[in-house]
Amino acid sequence: MARIVMKFGGTSVADIDRIRNVARHVKREVDSGNEVAVVVSAMAGKTNELVGWTREASPMHDAREYDAIVASGEQVTAGLLAIVLQSMGVNARSWQGWQIPIKTDMTHGAARITDIDGSFLIKRFTEGQVAVIAGFQGISPENRISTLGRGGSDTSAVAIAAAVKADRCDIYTDVDGVYTTDPRVEPKARRMAKISFEEMLEMASLGAKVLQVRSVELAMVHKVRTFVRSSFEDPHAPGMGDPLNPPGTLICDEDEIVEQQVVTGIAFARDEAQISLRRVADRPGVSAAIFVPLAEEHINVDMIVQNVSEDGSKTDMTFTVPSGDMDKAVHALDKVKAEIGCDSIQSETGLAKISVIGTGMRSHAGVAATAFKALAEKGINIRAITTSEIKISILIDSAYTELAVRTLHSVYGLDKH
Ligand code: ADP
Ligand code: ASP
Ligand code: MG
Repeated sequence: MARIVMKFGGTSVADIDRIRNVARHVKREVDSGNEVAVVVSAMAGKTNELVGWTREASPMHDAREYDAIVASGEQVTAGLLAIVLQSMGVNARSWQGWQIPIKTDMTHGAARITDIDGSFLIKRFTEGQVAVIAGFQGISPENRISTLGRGGSDTSAVAIAAAVKADRCDIYTDVDGVYTTDPRVEPKARRMAKISFEEMLEMASLGAKVLQVRSVELAMVHKVRTFVRSSFEDPHAPGMGDPLNPPGTLICDEDEIVEQQVVTGIAFARDEAQISLRRVADRPGVSAAIFVPLAEEHINVDMIVQNVSEDGSKTDMTFTVPSGDMDKAVHALDKVKAEIGCDSIQSETGLAKISVIGTGMRSHAGVAATAFKALAEKGINIRAITTSEIKISILIDSAYTELAVRTLHSVYGLDKH
């Protein structure tokens, strides 16, 4: 017997037929004698619709009310799945975040889970009940519904798995695992049997939305054995109920991976915007003057490039933010422009960041040069570059996203043959 948390994403629960199929996956695990808790997302498109309504009601709205609205999608799915499970003879009950409770901080719209007492769910296990939990939501210290940021049901699932000390957390989605890049963009992408926590963290942070970043962090810290697998497969296909190695991709410690590649995968993020502050006075404190106001607005600044003039008195500061945050960022900077003492603030959308990821880069030289050469041969202009020990990120015009992803995927030998 194992204790398993099963999470089903939006496309997996998009309609009642799919919910029935999901229920068959759940029943398979229950019938094998496992203790099961289920985490569900809103039906595909539902959260976008809810977000759209909040914006239509007022573009600048109270984040607490945003959460009250957008959390509702998961509530519907949890109830529906509980009904379908009950109709199949499975003892199931739906639960909202506040009932567990899944405690979070106050950052409405992007809250972090602060605590989950596993005893409530463990009691459900001992009663032989399958708890169907609304993902993506929790409860704030002010007793209000909070949400965990887009894609947050993954994080709900991993956090719950950690809290109940589950043997496994299975993230069921519309792909059968983690691929070397998004298979929707590169059909030659290969599915990986395993990927290390660190690499998955980079992939997710750099745009591979298959898992929410925070879920990978939690899995890494709490050593949750997490599998990414498909909900669309026949629940009774051979191997589906394998307790140790179910089909899919296992996110695990680096030392569990025998065959280490130099480059593991390519991630990309469209919708990047670039902001450049021209001729900023080059003196101590200037970076703080620029970036502290942005941090206060919760704007995620990414690539930062600073270029000092010949006499060292002035500097150009260029950085990227998500497109959706660009206006807010420029507005925040306008307010401190006099303090920064720059000539102008320029901004531009329509950019994409392509990243090459692999722990093998630690011990291999020339990985970056290969990327630059390959992109140059395709006539793709590079606007900015950042690197870390295990990744290289390149900023380009977003019109070249697909071409750049496929070019890099191929040049590092990741294409499936
Ligand atoms: P869910 O609704 O189940 O949470 P998501 O849409 O959030 O599903 O995540 C699954 C999607 O992630 C896939 O359909 C795929 O297009 C995308 N994706 C991006 N990068 C990758 C990758 N490297 N491997 C697998 N899927 C990826
Ligand atoms: N429904 C939420 C979203 O679309 C959470 C999730 O699906 O993980 O972002
Ligand atoms: Mg998701």
